[in-house]
Amino acid sequence: MTLPQGALVLFSGGQDSTTCVAWALSRYAKVETIGFDYGQRHAIELTVRPSLLRKMRALSSDWDSRLGNDHMIDLSLLAKISDTALTQNVEIAMQDNGLPNTFVPGRNLLFMTVAATVAYRRGLDALVGGMCETDFSGYPDCRNDTMQSLQATLNLGMASRFRIDTPLMWIDKAATWDMAHGLGGQPLVDLIRTDTHTCYLGERGALHDWGYGCGKCPACELRARGYRKFTQQARPPAGSGQPPAAA
Ligand code: ZN
Repeated sequence: MTLPQGALVLFSGGQDSTTCVAWALSRYAKVETIGFDYGQRHAIELTVRPSLLRKMRALSSDWDSRLGNDHMIDLSLLAKISDTALTQNVEIAMQDNGLPNTFVPGRNLLFMTVAATVAYRRGLDALVGGMCETDFSGYPDCRNDTMQSLQATLNLGMASRFRIDTPLMWIDKAATWDMAHGLGGQPLVDLIRTDTHTCYLGERGALHDWGYGCGKCPACELRARGYRKFTQQARPPAGSGQPPAAA
């Protein structure tokens, strides 16, 4: 079942946001994507985005017909005003406040707010993000309360009726792989394995069963552990969950 509205998906080129694009395509008549260049240490995420979208279109003519514009926004000011391991060349470590130094204060608040501004102009009423409380590093701007509060704020501030969808909020990485399998079958799982990028260190040398990455940073460990759990779970035989073939 597809709702008649349109969605704007925060799409970074990682596993989670790619799954969110497929999720939005299973629900919304029209889906656009938005990405942010914020001075990431490794621009690999940004370079995999266009080919990922192209390959998703190739998986399904239905997806191809409903996937619209991709918006790339320059938010390089974020690197200038913050000091974190994602934008500076420093070791990933835990900070005294219990948050890893990969935390970029306000990042998701800024992303969602900019996305809402673009969605307003494009007439899209859902904002879809891969925020997750279940097994990430406890980033406070990934929390459900934060997103619900932001939804209320955006709607008050823009006199709008946006909904923020966070389909991964309560599931773990294994369930995220499983969701991708349910939405696009093995072809989508394979595309996510080989074409998405999650590694904090920007490593793309060796292809592991769970994809490319250093295998040691927190993002790689989470992704690898989730993939292992996913592959150990029983599921319907391959071919039962294919992307929709026709519009
Ligand atoms: Zn890594």
